[in-house]
Amino acid sequence: MSIRTNLEHIKQLLPADIKLIAVTKTHPVEKVREVYEAGHKIMGENKVQELTDKYENLPKDIEWHLIGHLQSNKVKYIAPFVSLIHAVDSVKLLEEINKQAKKNDRVIPCLFQIHIAEEETKFGLSEEEVTNLISSSISELGNVSIVGLMGMATFTDNKDQIRKEFKGLRTLFERLRQSPLPANVQMKELSMGMSGDFKIAIEEGSTMVRVGSAIFGERNYLNKQ
Ligand SMILES: *Cc1c(COP(=O)(O)O)cnc(C)c1O
Repeated sequence: MSIRTNLEHIKQLLPADIKLIAVTKTHPVEKVREVYEAGHKIMGENKVQELTDKYENLPKDIEWHLIGHLQSNKVKYIAPFVSLIHAVDSVKLLEEINKQAKKNDRVIPCLFQIHIAEEETKFGLSEEEVTNLISSSISELGNVSIVGLMGMATFTDNKDQIRKEFKGLRTLFERLRQSPLPANVQMKELSMGMSGDFKIAIEEGSTMVRVGSAIFGERNYLNKQ
């Protein structure tokens, strides 16, 4: 199936108010251009180097999301143009994003990544950590705007487990939404769901899904550019 057909198929499955982020990682610029030419302009990358390369080589009206783990020393490369940083998991990182956003005279929207999976390797904050972070001094960081939460479920065929993890994230999202929040923190977006689990994620209240292989096909890490 062509990229365009895959994209159209996914779009049909998504309710109109759910944002689709086409995850372009490991795929060459020409393939990303196919998605762009099919009318889709929201893309996600998980590595800074690939994100900046693609940004430079593709039309400038693409909305670029950084969906993967971000190291503080690399924030400066994406600060001029990134639309949303999905995986903020420390105050230190948030302070650096604020500093680089200020240099670029802009406000950068971010999500807090919450650890919901069983695997120890996945990044993210615990419920307690995010609560502490929100009640710390982040209201002083005037060049960042927290707009919601992001999470990745365990990589498993067990749908009940995936659903339970998404439900947990949704519950936290609702709880935070109803609690007093600093001026630069809002709970509007819930980024959960990938190719294998986005249908469950939507049923559990996701507002944005990050879909790669269901659009572009399997990734070949050996051939990645
Ligand atoms: C790669 C990636 C995705 C997309 O994964 P697919 O299974 O190919 O849809 C989504 N989110 C993050 C954070 C990723 O790194």
